[in-house]
Amino acid sequence: MNGPANRPVNRKERWQYRLQEWRKKLLRRHEHGWKGVSVLIYPHHAGSPYRIRINYYALLFPVSLIAIVIGLAGFYEVKRVTIDRDRYEKLQTSEILLSNHHIVLSQKTELLHRLEEQRDRLYRLSWNQKPDPDLNEHLQLRQVEEKILNTGSRFDLDLERYRQYRQHADLLLLGAGQAALKSLWHRVHIYWITPKGWPVYPGTASISSGYGSRMDPFLKTVPGDFHGGVDFAAAPNTPIIATAPGTVVRSVDKDRPGFGLHVVIHHGLGYQTLYAHCNKVLVKAGDRVQKGQVIALIGRTGRATGNHLHYEVRFGLERPVDPVPYISFK
Ligand SMILES: [Zn+2]
Repeated sequence: MNGPANRPVNRKERWQYRLQEWRKKLLRRHEHGWKGVSVLIYPHHAGSPYRIRINYYALLFPVSLIAIVIGLAGFYEVKRVTIDRDRYEKLQTSEILLSNHHIVLSQKTELLHRLEEQRDRLYRLSWNQKPDPDLNEHLQLRQVEEKILNTGSRFDLDLERYRQYRQHADLLLLGAGQAALKSLWHRVHIYWITPKGWPVYPGTASISSGYGSRMDPFLKTVPGDFHGGVDFAAAPNTPIIATAPGTVVRSVDKDRPGFGLHVVIHHGLGYQTLYAHCNKVLVKAGDRVQKGQVIALIGRTGRATGNHLHYEVRFGLERPVDPVPYISFK
């Protein structure tokens, strides 16, 4: 077969020779494939046996089908496992994120409650007993919870809660800011209208009688009335000045028993000051006066033993309060 005459000499002949060999091999295989196997079946009762011929090509089909099915099953199983692992890793990451999220949320909640307390304290300070009802309606945490219940997953729930908390915090801050401003304004206002200092220019008078129980200045031996003010002894016609801005609510320019000629000024929020036993009054009811403005002159009208100013600080309808803290208030 491999005689020297048949041997390929160049490249082209070599390839042709190889092709020929492959074709021969294939043909042999083909013949072999159609050969197949035979199965003999002998029935027990009698008769001749059956012979079933199965060639290799016919066998090839079910075998390859089974191989394909097994291969596909394996592929999908590997895929499923990979996907599950990815999903598990993602879940783990989510869990860590969620736990962090919960820590942040609980911190926020605590902060909110502290803010609420602070705001309420500020509201109390600014005399507004309870916060703005419209604002407060927004701040009902229960409402926030109800809204959350309508949403889906736990993560969504947390996100929703977070959003609500942020809104809640913004509203709270707004409320607290308003309350703080109100409180500050009230403080400034109170400071502004509180009677402060002496009702005369410095060095023009001296305190001759204090506040409280004392002997009657006329009868000397029996306990007198409660003295509701502080007396400032001075020369006649020494100027009397208002101790805070306000409106004159009473000005008596005719001598009468008791206070004689006197002036009462209302400063706001129930604060009033009284200036009594004047020789002359320089303001009339309804006049607005400034702190330090001269409103009357010292005299001895009414129930007075000498030239002096009887000065009282009143708060609301109660009896006069001790004016000493106000006099010494800078
Ligand atoms: Zn007096």
